[in-house]
Amino acid sequence: MHRTAVRGATLACVGVLLTSLATGPAVAGGPPVPFPSSPRGLTSSHPTPSPIDPVPRYQGQVACQPVTTRPGVAKLRSLVLKTYGQGWAGRTTGPCTEGVSEHADGRAWDWMVDVTDKKEKAAAANFLAWLTRDQGRNARRLGVMYVIYNEKIWGVYRASDGWRASAGHRDHVHISLSWNGARGTTSFWTGKVHAIDHGPCTIFSGQYAPVTRSANTRGCASPVSLPRSTTHTSRPFGARGADVGWAQDRLGVPRTQAVDTRTRTAVMAYQRQHDLPETGVLDENTWASLDPGSVDRSAVKGMTAASALRYGRDHYQSTTLRRGSAGKAVLVLQRGLGMPRQSWSGWFGPDTQAALEQAQTRVGRAPTGTATGADWKALAG
Ligand SMILES: [Zn+2]
Repeated sequence: MHRTAVRGATLACVGVLLTSLATGPAVAGGPPVPFPSSPRGLTSSHPTPSPIDPVPRYQGQVACQPVTTRPGVAKLRSLVLKTYGQGWAGRTTGPCTEGVSEHADGRAWDWMVDVTDKKEKAAAANFLAWLTRDQGRNARRLGVMYVIYNEKIWGVYRASDGWRASAGHRDHVHISLSWNGARGTTSFWTGKVHAIDHGPCTIFSGQYAPVTRSANTRGCASPVSLPRSTTHTSRPFGARGADVGWAQDRLGVPRTQAVDTRTRTAVMAYQRQHDLPETGVLDENTWASLDPGSVDRSAVKGMTAASALRYGRDHYQSTTLRRGSAGKAVLVLQRGLGMPRQSWSGWFGPDTQAALEQAQTRVGRAPTGTATGADWKALAG
């Protein structure tokens, strides 16, 4: 199941332009509003480094972590409002039920400047002209990923395409930041060029990525298919439903029937306790753990611990599993190690590692916490 399919169809703020982000045509006719030739821009206390900040690829929202306004967003908001003295601060964070939106990552900001207000429109024109000039040099220095205003979008990752068609956004400029921009580590704020932060990594296709707490400069492995699924629907922050109330009873939080901050925190604690990817979302793994009866497809269906180990021995001779590995082989390992059913996620977390180390010790192998073909063989006996 694709995440976009389970997220509902509300088109708010940025959800509407998704399809045009990667493939939409360039639009003749220039910027969303007339730009001044010598725009008034923001002032950095750091000189422009050479070379300047690299251009990351498009970094769309893949996790649901909307509870904080990130430092780079807060600094940009404050400087823009102070510099131009027009409009007002709209929202930064938002629920995760609006389609793909960096508001759900705390790395977007809506500057409320209406195209029908002359002064506000002029302020927006100054900022956008300054930001996007010279192939987006200033956007790169700030870590601005894209902006939308008056039915047009400009993305730093497609700077040579200029302004393209989008929708809405006549009463505010939407600003999405890259991860470096959101963390406030770009040269505009620090004077230094940092390595590209790739942000959270999707583990299972169609599911939210685990939350991030630090920069990811290594990139992401390709997502894999979920090795088991449930009849429940993913419920991210902001979602409502009777099933949410059911989960709240089990998580010991007030039954509001909505994934609120308390529920999200409880979900994350539950996920850590049960070796599930810490997404903060009532996702398929979490539903399968909370409500085992809802599992409708499982790659270890009918397997005992012993038969799972034999299956691994026969199928995974050339596979190495370690912390962070994911997929059917991990699920088979978890089954084979006799881990509790609530922790059969197909994701190799700390509990899986501990269980593997114990088992390795038991069969007289070094407790490496890494499963190789030789380990499967020893474990299967
Ligand atoms: Zn927005």
